[in-house]
Amino acid sequence: MSKLTGSKKATQFTESVIREMTRLNHLYGGVNLSQGFPDFAAPAAIKEAACTAINEDVNQYAVTWGARPLREAVAREFTRRYGLPVAADEQVTVCCGSTEAMMATMMGIIDPGDEVVIFEPFYENYGPDAILSGATPRYVTLHEPDWTFDPDELAAAFNDRTKAIIINTPNNPTGKVFTREELETIAALCRKWDAIAISDEIYEHIIYDGRQHIPIATIDGMADRTITMNGLSKTYSVTGWRVGWTISPPSLTGAIRKVHDFLTVGAAAPLQEAGAIALGLPDTYYTDLAEAYRRRRDTLLEILERHHFTCYKPYGAYYIMTDISAFGFPNDIEFARYLVKDVGVAAVPGSSFYKNAATGATKLRFCFCKRDETLREADRRMAKLVAATVH
Ligand code: GLN
Repeated sequence: MSKLTGSKKATQFTESVIREMTRLNHLYGGVNLSQGFPDFAAPAAIKEAACTAINEDVNQYAVTWGARPLREAVAREFTRRYGLPVAADEQVTVCCGSTEAMMATMMGIIDPGDEVVIFEPFYENYGPDAILSGATPRYVTLHEPDWTFDPDELAAAFNDRTKAIIINTPNNPTGKVFTREELETIAALCRKWDAIAISDEIYEHIIYDGRQHIPIATIDGMADRTITMNGLSKTYSVTGWRVGWTISPPSLTGAIRKVHDFLTVGAAAPLQEAGAIALGLPDTYYTDLAEAYRRRRDTLLEILERHHFTCYKPYGAYYIMTDISAFGFPNDIEFARYLVKDVGVAAVPGSSFYKNAATGATKLRFCFCKRDETLREADRRMAKLVAATVH
């Protein structure tokens, strides 16, 4: 057999459907409500900070695990918000986005055969992250409409081989915000089975209707067994900067830093300087951000419901999961292709968030991190969808 092939690992997963939808959208000139990135400006103060850093020649490698001002800002803000002490030197590692933070974490802590519990629907990166790190994923379903999990089903997913559980709150793609009670249930299992909680909190500040973000690291007994990850992308509308980080117990930091160093050496040095400025923005920045997203959420909910989508209202993050059964298409992929090609709106097929494609075949995810006029244009285009398919 020819050796001119990809590795077994690389052939076990497909390219990202989310990123593919963005490419299809370019091809057909659609309105892109698929890949979650803002189409509006980042805050002027942080753009200026980045330009200043470049002009002042912060243009060489930062310390591999992250420039001190950013690491200190990450530690300071986490402690200020949640009351948990964080040591910048021993616990914070800056990575190239939280995507790399997750990969460096998984590769840093997983041995072949270790199991990792993943809630489903899941952000699609977690699947390939598990394969590349050698983990065996164990999926636990979040059930619509509230995206709750069955505590018995979760308990059954843990065993001696369970090394970690991945939590994403506020959640992509469902908009679920995990409650304290749910986090307590997860924490009890982590303590019982000596497992690590890997908590992706990238949508920390994008949260609605009085819901509270609770980092699982703040639950009793969890600070020593939680790796929290976050980044600049969503909070400061700079998804292309690729600056993220982990906060880990000191006992796990070395493993993450070694993997990170050999994967990437480090994140862009001048953008780390700007990140330190970003984290110092006043609290009103975060309340304004959440309020602006709440308005966009309500706008897109109204549009989608008017066009016959069944919507699951999100309480955090910037996506709406919908049910598309009413349109009578055979599956989500065919509907998503029709929507981008013939209607001119890109969204993400639900199956890309599930282990078994069939479970997501009636679902489609839209993002609303877009200007009002972008959402209005999607509305105009979807008029065609109704005329073509709903009788
Ligand atoms: N998190 C965003 C999404 O789910 C974008 C992720 C990415 O493409 N890196 O759409």
